Amino acid sequence: MYSNIKTCVLHGLSGNIIDVETDLSRGLPVFNIVGLPDTSIKESKERVRTAIKNSGYEFPLSRITVNLAPANLKKEGSQMDLAIAVGILKSSNLIQDKDLQDIVFIGELSLDGKINPVEGALPMVISMREAGISKCIIPFHNREECSVIEDVEIIPVKSLNEVVDYLNGELNIDSYINENRHFQNEDQEYTVDFSDIKGQGSLKRALEVAAAGSHNILIIGPPGAGKTMAARRLPTILPRLTFEEAIEVTKIYSIAGLLPSNSLIEERPFRSPHHTASSVSLIGGGRIPKPGEVTLAHNGVLFLDELPEFPKSVLEVLRQPLEDGMVTIARANGTITYPAKFMLVASMNPCPCGYYGDPFHECTCSQGSIDRYLGKISNPLLDRIDIHIEVQPVKYSDLTDKMKEESSATIRQRVNKAREIQIERYKNKNIFSNSQISNRDIRRYCKLTKEAEDILNVSYNKYKFSARTYNKLLKVSRTIADLDGEELIQDKHILEAIRYRTLDNKYWG
Ligand SMILES: [Zn+2]
Repeated sequence: MYSNIKTCVLHGLSGNIIDVETDLSRGLPVFNIVGLPDTSIKESKERVRTAIKNSGYEFPLSRITVNLAPANLKKEGSQMDLAIAVGILKSSNLIQDKDLQDIVFIGELSLDGKINPVEGALPMVISMREAGISKCIIPFHNREECSVIEDVEIIPVKSLNEVVDYLNGELNIDSYINENRHFQNEDQEYTVDFSDIKGQGSLKRALEVAAAGSHNILIIGPPGAGKTMAARRLPTILPRLTFEEAIEVTKIYSIAGLLPSNSLIEERPFRSPHHTASSVSLIGGGRIPKPGEVTLAHNGVLFLDELPEFPKSVLEVLRQPLEDGMVTIARANGTITYPAKFMLVASMNPCPCGYYGDPFHECTCSQGSIDRYLGKISNPLLDRIDIHIEVQPVKYSDLTDKMKEESSATIRQRVNKAREIQIERYKNKNIFSNSQISNRDIRRYCKLTKEAEDILNVSYNKYKFSARTYNKLLKVSRTIADLDGEELIQDKHILEAIRYRTLDNKYWG
């Protein structure tokens, strides 16, 4: 007897339909799975056999051949267990339902026949909907994350028995609809706030500009100047995720197995890997490739505290995602690509002891050691950071000042307004912020007044900016003009943007 059941495997964030063909024929009892199965799928043989027996069905004493098609596609993951078990039961006539071609089965079996949740259920269901599938049988514990998707029927199941009874019409399972599943689009509550930071006006302004245009930012200053404190408050002024961005982020966290409550993520990610992190954990990879920090920070912030402490090799792998907004992971057979559009926030001391240029402490470093320290940040990496800002220790008068500092909510209002201008300007262009304008389109969207143009030309010659820096200047000044609600970039906007690029000359010049 022959049967054909559908399941799904993931390749990056997108899922492919897999046909599980099962044939039972006479002969010595054997159980073979063919069609480029990964070792993880070979292991599923034992789970399927035991789960079928422990669910009270007879495991066929026949020659069982399971073919996973298309044969040229690499298959991995335990989510195929359920489809293989259903295929065997269908071929043994234990399942009567004639037509299962419109259903995709996703689930890992445990030895007692229960169905365990799987990683990546949401991206699988989204891909299946795109492939025209109308019904997905999924593990009960994945039901909430999958229910963010409309117009595909979600049937949550707890055991193999339930699946068989459901398919035989002996058990009714309502498709799961989460009534509360509406995108909130409301501002998050935070326990920290920008008003906690005393003084530091220019740092706060730079962070506001960075947040408004999703620009990368490097903060340089001595220990105790509040660099880390300020960076950690950045999420409180970031604009809300749009629904499309939220779906992208949720897909990534679903694959990584990091969905906190199995539901839609509505908060912009903020990732802060330690400098001991390996390049694999930063970029992604492993035997079953997992997204790395750069992908987990997609549509959010990647914060690298004490930037020069990261090994140079680790910093260099950041160049591809910073440039392309995606990351390619090499594997034994082929490569896989994950999205990685993040805003880089980095902080560093100006020298190994930290006090170079500090008015209150003496720097004890030799010029050689300062050069080596700064040299860890390569020019190509520095070039990809739009905004450089220097901070000084907080003044005593600022600490004791009773004046109320501006709250995150107030700053976020301005950031949101600037973002709305950008979303409107780049509608249907697949651009969400000024930092994403391509070099080709830069002059189309960044138009300057005559005075601003003159200033740009003079400083271009004075500071000998690279072409990449020149483009970054235009994008950052675009954001500053957007914060002002001005369509034309004016001299004060370009001057502020230039100020964010003069530290290269001071430290790395
Ligand atoms: Zn020093």
